[in-house]
Amino acid sequence: MEPSPRSAELHARRIDAVARGVGSVLPAYVESAGGGIVVDVDGNRLIDFGSGIAVTSVGNAAPRVVEAVQRQVERFTHTCFMVAPYESYVAVCETLNGLTPGTFDKRSALFNSGAEAVENAVKVARHATGRPAVVVFDHAYHGRTNLTMALTAKNMPYKHRFGPFAPEIYRVPMSYPYRDGGLTGGQAAARALEQIDKQVGADNVAAVLIEPIQGEGGFVVPAEGFLPALADWTRHAGAVFIADEIQTGFCRTGTWFACEREAVVPDLVTTAKGIAGGLPLAAVTGRAELMDAVHVGGLGGTYGGNPIACAAALATIDTMRDLDLCTAARHIEAAMLPRLHALAERDPRIGDVRGRGAMLAIETAAADPALVSTVARACHREGLIVLTAGTYGNVLRFLPPLVIDDETLARGMDILEGAFADA
Ligand SMILES: *Cc1c(COP(=O)(O)O)cnc(C)c1O
Repeated sequence: MEPSPRSAELHARRIDAVARGVGSVLPAYVESAGGGIVVDVDGNRLIDFGSGIAVTSVGNAAPRVVEAVQRQVERFTHTCFMVAPYESYVAVCETLNGLTPGTFDKRSALFNSGAEAVENAVKVARHATGRPAVVVFDHAYHGRTNLTMALTAKNMPYKHRFGPFAPEIYRVPMSYPYRDGGLTGGQAAARALEQIDKQVGADNVAAVLIEPIQGEGGFVVPAEGFLPALADWTRHAGAVFIADEIQTGFCRTGTWFACEREAVVPDLVTTAKGIAGGLPLAAVTGRAELMDAVHVGGLGGTYGGNPIACAAALATIDTMRDLDLCTAARHIEAAMLPRLHALAERDPRIGDVRGRGAMLAIETAAADPALVSTVARACHREGLIVLTAGTYGNVLRFLPPLVIDDETLARGMDILEGAFADA
């Protein structure tokens, strides 16, 4: 979309004030949002297939989140849990311990961002095992801090000229059914595990870290059997299996966590994004004996588990339960997937349609970002927010809020189909 007058004005101010390295997908500046619609400062209404990158799963400014935040902000805004603790932090940890896969005793710790949660999961795994190596996968995305840049696969834009990176990170091949010649999950796991055995050595591995469905890497869904085989190997190696559920968690894929699909039980789970309806919060949750291995004071941070974010998380999770947003995610899949498959039938430029729940994507047949960026721009112009992804920049991904209504969802799909027809 062309920036309308107020947005154009704000954009001019931004150029002089905001560092160029911080990009934005849309040229439009936001005035308000809710119910799957984002309204810009010029009054344009955009259908939201992005949810602020899988964050506002309960909807933007969701009523119960707003109310919980307002109530908390009047009581106190911050004490630092490491200085003066409060109930909501404990309640969020209790909730996460109950919701995440695994019936064993668990502990949680709260942080501000996904990257910070991943860093802390690695700290816990290294501390508990006394080993250095962390195994990650092709196309992985785990964040932008120094350690998480090392864990992330893609150079541009995440890593380029930002090194040197943290050591003892080893990357092995992912199961990527569209691109790995149809390896089964077991075969793809054997390929990855042989590299770990030969190049790292099982005894050196602190953790195997994986997104159960890759996010920024292009919504890559590993072949069935891949995740269970990795989890089994990791258990036998005495290492820690960490599921990065930052993008896939909180009903996004039709279950509370994507690992549940194949009954994989991680030792540690990292969460963020959908957890608190847009307030910044992240967590590491996992086996009590691993989490409690760390000495007092070894984990924390000034803002981690801020009381306003905790209040928002409790309201968000209640909303997900009450509105049954896991079922809503499956409903979105049922509404979108047939139309995406039909689009791919008609349009040979589309190579693959994949994903689960309200985390769906199209990959173009050519490993070239030109078509998806043209389609994404056309969608934006016509009033639909879509995001791109993938190592080759050739994936369009769809992450509608789980509360979006059928009519808005269908209108969004109309715009997407029109954009492909015109491109
Ligand atoms: C977004 C994301 C992160 C990083 O989260 P931030 O809050 O941006 O630091 C890490 N892992 C996955 C899978 C993500 O999608």
